[in-house]
Amino acid sequence: MSIELLFPTPVYRAALRARGTAALNARLLRECRQLRIDDAAGRRWSARHYPSGYTSYGSAHRMQRLSPTFAALAHELDRHVARFARQLQFALGTRSLIMTDCWVNIMGHGAAHGPHLHPHSTISGVYYVAVPAGAPGLKLEDPRLERFMAAPPRARDAHRRNRAWITIPAHNRQLVLFESWLRHEVLAHRDARERVSISFNYNWF
Ligand code: FE
Repeated sequence: MSIELLFPTPVYRAALRARGTAALNARLLRECRQLRIDDAAGRRWSARHYPSGYTSYGSAHRMQRLSPTFAALAHELDRHVARFARQLQFALGTRSLIMTDCWVNIMGHGAAHGPHLHPHSTISGVYYVAVPAGAPGLKLEDPRLERFMAAPPRARDAHRRNRAWITIPAHNRQLVLFESWLRHEVLAHRDARERVSISFNYNWF
């Protein structure tokens, strides 16, 4: 007999290891915090949609075009996204994956980010700028979940590949990439120290 694993859900993880990453990360953290001060529209948007947190998703969501620091991050991320696309064997033809959106998320104590996916996008991801130890990671959901009509629950010690939810831990200066249809969430942040991350989308059309 044989069992073949088909239709995988690839998730890419890497550390940002370019020269000067520590300095770049420090600049990013400063700019994330400065943006919250400058971005009144974003603070208003966050008050309605992101309690206890600040995000520039609804206001300054193309930071790679506004800030040379974010552009430098995008330059690094481009390489990782290209590598991921090669692993996924995307046949992009003459097109390439381009960063379309890039925004800031600062989670305060109690902030959470409910389950969602990223429409109008191909590859999405997150880069962790400053994450206190033990802060919530990225919780991923099995994309087949709504089809699990009579599927039994899985054993407590089930292998990762057989679980319906997997949490990728958040670590400073690390990035996670996934296909944009993959539903994900961040559970409530329970630390007085803020959890700062940068989210982004790539598209090929
Ligand atoms: Fe997201």
